[in-house]
Amino acid sequence: MSIVVLKLPNVKRKTEERPKQCPYCEGTTFQRWGQVNKPVKDMRVRNVKVYRYRCCHCKRTFRHYPEGNTSADQTERLRLFAILLWTLGLSHRASSLILSGLKIMLSFMTIWRDVQAEAQKTKRRNQWKRVRVLGLDGAYVLGWGEKQPVLVAVDLGTGEPITVGYINEYDPQAIIRWLRPLVQEHGISVIVTDDLSSYKMVAEKLQLGHQVCQFHVRRWVGKTLKELQEKIPKEWLWVVEEVRQLLDVLDPQGSQRLHALWKQLPGRRSGQNKSRSAMEQLRDLLVRLSRDWHTYCTFQSEPEVPWTNNATERAIGRMKMRARTLRGYKSWHGMQAGLMLAGTYTG
Ligand SMILES: [Zn+2]
Repeated sequence: MSIVVLKLPNVKRKTEERPKQCPYCEGTTFQRWGQVNKPVKDMRVRNVKVYRYRCCHCKRTFRHYPEGNTSADQTERLRLFAILLWTLGLSHRASSLILSGLKIMLSFMTIWRDVQAEAQKTKRRNQWKRVRVLGLDGAYVLGWGEKQPVLVAVDLGTGEPITVGYINEYDPQAIIRWLRPLVQEHGISVIVTDDLSSYKMVAEKLQLGHQVCQFHVRRWVGKTLKELQEKIPKEWLWVVEEVRQLLDVLDPQGSQRLHALWKQLPGRRSGQNKSRSAMEQLRDLLVRLSRDWHTYCTFQSEPEVPWTNNATERAIGRMKMRARTLRGYKSWHGMQAGLMLAGTYTG
């Protein structure tokens, strides 16, 4: 697995490189003003050499840290490593066990504080970020005793999650309340989703472009057509075949053609108590596909829009991989921070 290797920063013991700019003013010339040996918490480095400099312009002094170090006791590498342990879902006890195996004493409160700060940083970085095409998909994550519904919003330009909401994807009103401010903050103009009816309502209400993931559509339509093929009279089999072809090429004129096919089919309805006949089911399918057809083809006129929601599903996969090792998050706050970090760090 590449996660740990991935983004852990380098830690240098010392640097001969001089500072580029004074942290207080615009000054660019400095005098060396002594040095200190700073003990640090890290898995490999025990202490680092830090030079002090005096700005020739404003006369103030400051410490210039080697790469991977800050004024904090821990190096950037350890800080991110501890956050990763937490994101992976390790318990307090397991985390301190691993760290003490590395001869590092780091209180869990410090880790928790760093996790919160990092999640805030991600949130700030994402706020007001331009996101034209947003992928939305629901998932269930274990938290406080049972599976909790979450809705994940992914920037389909980068594949990174923008936010995670405590929202059930079957509740259009809740999605609208949650999504409306996001649409304004990020300038979202198209959503990509699977074909739940709630997303259709959301796109209409918020006047967003809509692309329905074609993997989902092909799966359920393919299955339905296969079943109907066994049951309808032979003289109508060509209709099934034509629907298949229309879906295959996603002809922009498909909607009108489906409507015309629907008109050709015999329209007799079975009695109220009888189950719908195969021909009625075929008629219903034609109506539904004709009505939703434009949401299948958005990607054809908008080059930034993908024709599937795969990137969103991948982000959720990363989040779930972390959640699996965890015996459940304890609060919504923790769950949101954890899912966001898990979805972001592995990109
Ligand atoms: Zn200065």
